[in-house]
Amino acid sequence: MADYIFKIAGSAKEPYEVSVTLSPLVVTCSCPAAAFGSVCKHRTQLLLGKNPGITDGDVSVLPAIAQGAAAAGFPPLFKRYEAVKADRADSTKKLENLFKGYKEERLRRYLGELKTERQVEKARDILESAIDEAGPIEAEFQGALAELRKILI
Ligand SMILES: [Zn+2]
Repeated sequence: MADYIFKIAGSAKEPYEVSVTLSPLVVTCSCPAAAFGSVCKHRTQLLLGKNPGITDGDVSVLPAIAQGAAAAGFPPLFKRYEAVKADRADSTKKLENLFKGYKEERLRRYLGELKTERQVEKARDILESAIDEAGPIEAEFQGALAELRKILI
């Protein structure tokens, strides 16, 4: 049985329902993002003591929820998740650009421009080392997400 239930206005016609249980800290949300296992803002804002657009529910308990979330260690977990998520986005962008560069080098070689085999190899080496660097970033992101999912079920 949840300690608190809120209706929160979202992009859907019907408001989403967020339930909060303080001990142990567990928060659910009926939004599509949550259904797909994503970390939705309806829950994270609530746990950080912010009002994510509550249309029904007692907002006077928000500080108590934030206090409970702090006691359960939510803020640092969320901060880590956000940082790793940003690193992952940078890593993905870098890989996309390097892959594009590599494909362009290959295309130029194919088209018979004055591109040596060495340039294609160099582009491939840079891409491969970026892929190697991206692995641990992805693993760290998945780890941070798994930690959050113990709370945001
Ligand atoms: Zn949600």
